[in-house]
Parts: sequence; C-alpha cells; structure tokens
Amino acid sequence: MYNGSFNNLDSDGDSNQYEALIANARIMLVDDEPINTEVLQTYLEGEGYTNFTSTSESVQAIEIMRQSKPDVVLLDLMMPDVSGFDILQMMRNDKSLTHIPVVILTSSDDAETKLKALQLGAMDFLAKPVDASELALRLRNTLGAKAYQHHLINFDQLTGLPKRDTFMEAVDSQTILMSGNKEKGALLHIHIENIKSINSSIGRENGNKIIQTFARRLQASIQSTCSIQNALGIETSVKVARVGGDKFAVFMGPASKPEQVTMLARKIVTDTGQSIKLDEQLYFTSTKIGIALYPNDGDDVQTLLSNAETAMSHVRDHGGKENLTFYSTSMDEESASILAIETGLQTAIERNELRVTYQPKVDVKSGRIIGAEALVRWISKDLGFVGPDQFISIAERTGQIIPIGEWVLKEACAQAAVWREKFGFDFHIAVNMSIRQIHDSDMRRTTKDSLEESGLPASCLTLELTESMVMENAESNIELLRGLKSLGISLSIDDFGTGYSSLSYLQRFPLDELKIDRAFIEEIQTENHRAPIVRAMVSLAHDLEMSVVAEGVETETQLQFMQQLNCELYQGYLRSRPLIANAFEELLLAENQPSKAA
Ligand code: C2E
Ligand code: MG
Ligand code: MG
Repeated sequence: MYNGSFNNLDSDGDSNQYEALIANARIMLVDDEPINTEVLQTYLEGEGYTNFTSTSESVQAIEIMRQSKPDVVLLDLMMPDVSGFDILQMMRNDKSLTHIPVVILTSSDDAETKLKALQLGAMDFLAKPVDASELALRLRNTLGAKAYQHHLINFDQLTGLPKRDTFMEAVDSQTILMSGNKEKGALLHIHIENIKSINSSIGRENGNKIIQTFARRLQASIQSTCSIQNALGIETSVKVARVGGDKFAVFMGPASKPEQVTMLARKIVTDTGQSIKLDEQLYFTSTKIGIALYPNDGDDVQTLLSNAETAMSHVRDHGGKENLTFYSTSMDEESASILAIETGLQTAIERNELRVTYQPKVDVKSGRIIGAEALVRWISKDLGFVGPDQFISIAERTGQIIPIGEWVLKEACAQAAVWREKFGFDFHIAVNMSIRQIHDSDMRRTTKDSLEESGLPASCLTLELTESMVMENAESNIELLRGLKSLGISLSIDDFGTGYSSLSYLQRFPLDELKIDRAFIEEIQTENHRAPIVRAMVSLAHDLEMSVVAEGVETETQLQFMQQLNCELYQGYLRSRPLIANAFEELLLAENQPSKAA
C-alpha cells in the first residue's frame, strides 16, 4: 500500500491535510469556572470537534499540557493563583509548549491587557460571553495557521514531500511496530546524478523544475510497484521523503524478500531516468540507489539511512553502469579509502605525483602512429599507484578534476608540440575531458592557453568526452561544445555504445570522431553477434561524417575486422599499452627519423 493519509506523510492535497488536522485537533480548555469549559465544549462538539482536555485548576494547566500536547489552547486570563498571563509566560519558556497556539478568552476590553497577552505570544482573542459561531471561526483560523506552520516545518516546499526529520520519525515509529512482529524492511537512498551541473548551466529555477518532475515520477513509480505487489498478494507499504537537495529516501516495510526491494529500486531507476522535457529541450538525469536492509544493516533509522547512503556513494564513485546496490560492511572500509583518495588528490599536483602516459593512435590502413591519447596516472607517495578508474570519478564529484584536467591538458599539449617538432609531422594528441570542466570552468580559455603556451596548432588537439557525459544535459552541452570547437580543435565521443545516445541528438553535436567502446571490440573475437553492431556504428559515424577509432584492439582478428569496415584508427594493446613519454618516443623513433630541424 502506498500510504496516502496525512499521518502517513503523503504529499498531495494540502487542503485535505488541513481538514484532517482541524477535525482531529486536540483542544485544551482552561478556565477556573467549570461551567464555562462545559459550555465551550458543547458548542465545539456541535461543530464536529471530538478531542478535548479541560481543567479548571490553573495550577495544573502546564503539567496537563505537557502530557496531552494539545493543538490549541483556549485560555481564560483572569484566574486565581496562576493567571492566564502566568500560563502564557510558562508556555513561552517551555520548548515543548512554545509553538502551541493560544486563544485568549477575556471579558476585558482593556487595550493594555490585550497587548500584554499578545506580547506573551497569544494568537487571538475571544470576548466573553463567547459567541458560538465566532468561536468556531476563530478556532478554525488558528488551527489552519497551525496546520500551515506544521506543513512548512515538516514538508519540502518544492516537492511537497516530507522532510528528513519527519521521515525519520515516521520510519522510527514504523520500525518499532515491525520489530514486534519480526518483520523485515528496506531503506533506499536515492540520488539524482547531475542536478548540480544542470543548475549551473540552465539556472536554479529550471533545476527546481527538474527536481519536481523527478519527485512526481518517483511517487508514481512507487505507487505502481505497490499496486503490482499488492495485486500479487504481497502486503507492503512505502514512505518517501526528500532528504537533501538532490537526495530522496524511501522506506519499504514490511518487505519480506530482497527481490521485492530490487523490483522497486529497478522500477525507480527506469521511471526516473527518462529524459525530461523543459521548454522544448530534453534533459537527461540518472538515478543511483543504495539500499540498506532492516534489521540486518541497522535496526534504527539513522543507521539505515547512513548505510544506504554509503551504498549509494559506492554506486556513484564506481562510475560504472550499475545504478543500484545493497549495502555491505566492506563498503565502510571502502569509504575510508575513498576519503583517503579525496584527501590525497588535493595535493597530488603540488607534490608532483601525477604523470601522463601516452597510448598510440594508429592508422588502420598504414599501421603508422599518427598520435596518442594522453592518459593520466597517479603515483601517490601515501597510497601507491592509484588507477584512473579509481580516482577520476571521485575527482569529478569533488571538482578536483578541474585542476587535474588542466594539468594533463597543458602537459600533453607541450609534449605533443615537442614530438611534432622533433619528428616533423602533425602529431595528434587526444586528451580526456570531464563534462565538469566545461560546465564549471572556462575550458575554452584553458584550451586556448594550453595551445598558445605549447605552440601546438589547434588542429592537432582532440578533446574526448564520454558518451554518457555528452548525453546528460545534452542541450546545454551542444552550445558549450560549439564554443570549444570554434578554437579549431576536434571533438571525440568516447566509450561509444555504453551511454544510450539519442541518435537525433548525436547529429546535433559538433563531433569529429567516434570511439567504439572496448566491450564491442572485445566481442568481435568470440561472439559474432556483436559484429553487426560494430558494423552499424561505423556506418552511422561515417554517415555523420565522423571518423572512427576502435578502442582496445588486442588481436589481429579484431584489427582485420576493423580494416574491412574502413575504420580509420585504432588503439589497443596489440600495438602498445599506454607508455611514459620516454618509452613512447622509442616507438616513434622506430618508425620515424627525427627531422633535421630538431
Ligand atoms: P578511456 O579514455 O576510454 O581510455 C582507454 C582506456 O582503455 C585506458 O584505461 C587504456 O589503458 C585502456 N586500454 C587501451 N587499450 C586497451 C586494450 O587493448 N585492452 C584493454 N583491456 N584496455 C585497454 P585507463 O588509462 O585506465 O583509463 C581509464 C579511463 O580513465 C579512461 O578511459 C578515461 O575515461 C579516464 N581518464 C584517463 N585519464 C584521464 C584524464 O586525464 N582526464 C579524464 N577526465 N579522464 C581520464
Ligand atoms: Mg579516452
Ligand atoms: Mg574509451
């Protein structure tokens, strides 16, 4: 069941929530004359209220309030021993009572008395003797204001979903019930991947619209999964909340089997991963989910939320195609190593720990090296060798990729200019670029500077962007990439075949080269069914006037196949692994005579 009522944290129908809160409101009546409280209660029962706490002992009023937690207090001012003013003052000094609205019942018309009561926090006045219809209206308004305040405190204004604390309280109460019945459940920590870059490229307001759409899809997805499971006779209920800017949480319980949870998570990934249309443009977000199981991964909501977040970070930091995973204790160790990488990266450049290696890009027809792809390596003094697969996605998340990428670009351009000069041909250098560099830094300026400082012609530089990066936030990328390309450089789409390109978009990007992902080349050898896909990719690229690079060519068979398809270039261990500059120069020397000018 998808919980729909106010108490169950549903988000839709604000007015229903107010109605519910008003109808169920607990009203406390404090008057030293018992007859007055009786009359008031009778009036209010006539209006449909059912929940009352009354006292004529003003001395006990505060204690009763603490216990019964009323939604509103109707308070007489003139009482012996402890007056209404005293009670107001005590309520102001007590954290648990200070937010309860108070309506004063007074026969006094004295302005000073009213002012004093207002100063002490009273919300409204009712003249004694009380008029029944006025009482009902004032009470309604006061409760309405309280319901609104309650909504502001507990619900996120953008999505209408419960906030973190509200969600935690609700899950807490639910797990208490579940523990009695020995039931199982699961908490999902959900992250929308690229909201930050969407915000920086199309503005916060549009970013907010995307978050709203995401939240709607998330709710619809949960609702439909619950309906399916209920139809299958599986009893469950789901709570959902927005727990951070780009983070949501879902609690499913009872959920006796992990498959039930996987079904929900998969459906959320698919439903929320569809492109979002805004002002006739498509935006792509991706969803990552970490799951912690109750009670195995934590028997309190705090632990569950934190472990689910650890699992989500694991998915995110691995930068792979996996979108969801279950928490495991080994992830805690991994979090520690991720933290070490984050810290180490901050000083990697100044401690001179980064190196650029070069992997030949080879002309398929002639077999000659026409240039290289620059691939960064990190030999940390503290952590030893850390591969790019381990640190690039972390650097992308923390923003460290901006200085690192800039360093690699400068280094690679300078080295390419040296080889161009030394061997007398237009040595082409390809440098990997993260989308964050284009969104969060002046990549055009950096590229221009690197070219000018090194003296390398723009036509000798190719910047590579992975397919998934290009497609996320596609529309704004088109503009930014056009700006970069106007420098005269080439642009390449890396790891093609893994990022679910929209083919209509592909045509609109100013791309010169398509690199077929290694996975497709790998299968040429073994499973011929992949061969038609490679063939189609090559022909697509050629139709779009792009040249093709085959990545990860390891065997002669693969090379021959690419030759037959008229693929222009290849890279791979068949020719060479990535090499440090000196070793790469040996390769060049074997093929070329150094030019006399050098
Ligand atoms: P990529 O750009 O697709 O680079 C190709 C990767 O495939 C390299 O891994 C390379 O060593 C590997 N490779 C090349 N030929 C073969 C082969 O025949 N067989 C096999 N099994 N592998 C082969 P590497 O160097 O570990 O880089 C991994 C990824 O890290 C790169 O993938 C790229 O996306 C990223 N990366 C590396 N350097 C940089 C950088 O300076 N900036 C950015 N933003 N990303 C980088
Ligand atoms: Mg690359
Ligand atoms: Mg690649």
